[in-house]
Amino acid sequence: MPTPIHDPHDTLGGPLKRLPLRKAAVIFIAAVCLSLCGLLYLQLEQSREHDLSQAQIASVNLTRAMAQQAEDTFVAADLVVTSLADWIQADGFGVALTPRLQRTFARRVQALQQLHGLFLFDRQGQWVVTSFGELPTRQGVADREYFKFHQQNASLQAHIGPAIRSRQNGEWIIPLSRRVNDRNGQFQGVLMAGIRMEYFDRFFTSFSLDDRALMFLALADGTLLSRRPGAELRIGESLAQGEIFRHYLPNAPSGTAMIRSRVDGELRLYGYQQLDAYPLVVASATPEAVVLRGWYANAVQSSVIVALVVLGVSLFGWVFVLQVRNGERIEADLRAAQERPEVIATHDSLTGLANRRLFERALQVEFARGLRQQSPLSLIMLDIDYFKRFNDSYGHVAGDQCLARVAGVVKGCCQRPSDLVVRYGGEEFAVLLPDTDIEGAVAIAERIRHSVRDANILHSGAPSGQLTVSLGCHAFVPKDGDSIEWLIECADAALYQAKNFGRNRTQVASRERRSSDTHSRG
Ligand code: GH3
Ligand code: MG
Ligand code: MG
Repeated sequence: MPTPIHDPHDTLGGPLKRLPLRKAAVIFIAAVCLSLCGLLYLQLEQSREHDLSQAQIASVNLTRAMAQQAEDTFVAADLVVTSLADWIQADGFGVALTPRLQRTFARRVQALQQLHGLFLFDRQGQWVVTSFGELPTRQGVADREYFKFHQQNASLQAHIGPAIRSRQNGEWIIPLSRRVNDRNGQFQGVLMAGIRMEYFDRFFTSFSLDDRALMFLALADGTLLSRRPGAELRIGESLAQGEIFRHYLPNAPSGTAMIRSRVDGELRLYGYQQLDAYPLVVASATPEAVVLRGWYANAVQSSVIVALVVLGVSLFGWVFVLQVRNGERIEADLRAAQERPEVIATHDSLTGLANRRLFERALQVEFARGLRQQSPLSLIMLDIDYFKRFNDSYGHVAGDQCLARVAGVVKGCCQRPSDLVVRYGGEEFAVLLPDTDIEGAVAIAERIRHSVRDANILHSGAPSGQLTVSLGCHAFVPKDGDSIEWLIECADAALYQAKNFGRNRTQVASRERRSSDTHSRG
């Protein structure tokens, strides 16, 4: 396949070759920006996970401390109640013994700061002895939950009841009570230690936690005993329908859980623990927004920084791409400026086709190649029929336009890059077809002839009423001694014959007989 003669008109490759550089820059910048965003996302996810797990650990520790404190509080009260109950069971609580009991009660209450008071009730729920000395004159406690419980249950285990207001002085207390039997095991009364709710409140508020953090102590059935922030109205409220009591405690006695509140819609991290020794549950909760407050601040900061970097990189990329594009434009302009004189010198200004100068150069190159490679070289000479009359009928300006149109048609019929279409002179064209034998040349000549006719250019001076062309073809494999001029002469002679045989036809010249023996295709 011969290399085509360089036609400076064909300079489309430049910008196309440059396109990948711009594309690569855009892809690179997009990849950098995406990587930055991806890294930010990963880093934020990791730090979020880290903050949450730290908060979980803190929550577990806090609930453990709460559970320990609750257990210690109740164990101490339980020991007091149990030892006193055993003593009372053994000795009874006759009138003679009550002063001593009262002193003992008072001493115990003094020794344990969580104790509000100690109370002994008889079978009817009436006060027998209290740590306060004087007995209240009001009704007894037969209506209290803990009293009824011991009345109905023979168990001598300590019982913790819902929080109540002391009938002694109105203070909120959590009752830890025990049944007292007589020597025969019959229900004799109840001994109750009132545990100050304030003791838990003080303990809960001793932790430096966010204002929105929750802490509570409840019975295992969900009855709220104490809460931070304190809300008296909510004491005694049932938490049994909450997620902790419904889903988490039945599965594990302690743990953490992220729960969305059905009341305020807030997501909170809960830590909870059920006490081993008593039917009590402690729990703490911190809103997720508080747990992740630091993380949010960090996330905003990092996101702003990354956004600025992405913006900067994008701006830089944009400027870079613009500069590459400008560079390409300047380069293309320079190339075009360099090539313009060459184009002017080798091309016809009216049709844009190669001129005779380029044709002669190409002919020499292709002739030498054909000689070297022993490949056929074809030449088509073309002349517009009755063109003088066309000028006469439509004027020279229309004639020029017609020439440009025919040139376009001829160029359109030659597809190989090595084919060269030339304005040979006036209304004559030449088509140089390297590596093409006579069959190929005739096929192209016929394609040109039909295409010109199909262009349907009106020509009132032509017998057919349409513009037509006549073509002469010659093909040969160059040999030593052959000349370029002879190739042109042969094609020219064939064209001459085509004219003679009536125009609008293709004529082939034979080498042996030169211009004298030709055959026609009309
Ligand atoms: P035929 O070739 O069919 O024998 O008849 P013809 O009338 O075309 O004769 P010929 O080829 O000798 O005519 C050449 C005419 O082409 C002369 C001139 O009027 C016209 N011509 C040549 N060059 C140009 C040109 O650049 N522009 C225009 N408008 N006409 C041209
Ligand atoms: Mg002519
Ligand atoms: Mg002519």
